[in-house]
Amino acid sequence: MSTRVALIAHDHKKDDIVKLVGEYADTLRRCHLIATGTTGSRIATAHGLEVERMLSGPHGGDLQIGAQLAEGRVDMVIFLRDPMTPQPHEPDINALVRACDVHNVPCATNISTARMILDVLALRLAQEGE
Ligand code: PGA
Repeated sequence: MSTRVALIAHDHKKDDIVKLVGEYADTLRRCHLIATGTTGSRIATAHGLEVERMLSGPHGGDLQIGAQLAEGRVDMVIFLRDPMTPQPHEPDINALVRACDVHNVPCATNISTARMILDVLALRLAQEGE
């Protein structure tokens, strides 16, 4: 079964996640991608990747991803949060990050950590392909 990667970015971080996904497109193409609504559209349009799109974050998308995660259906989360802007759905954001901690699922909330996680994923998939 392919690795299931959740991708979420707040508005000021959307360009960053699109760029990041572009850098790791060969790796992520081999994964099942799940994303909140707008993030998913941006990624799909920019890179032609197949993305399972949930609702937009403020409309419950983070919670939908959190529910999948709690059921063991998300292997890692890249969640580029905007630490400078208050979000109307702050409780949902905290719930998703908490769910990652409860279920011990890797969760990157900034680009440096995201790169580390994706580097490991790329290595693992390359080894599997050997
Ligand atoms: P969006 O949601 O991808 O639909 O913008 C992200 C968020 O704000 O949590």
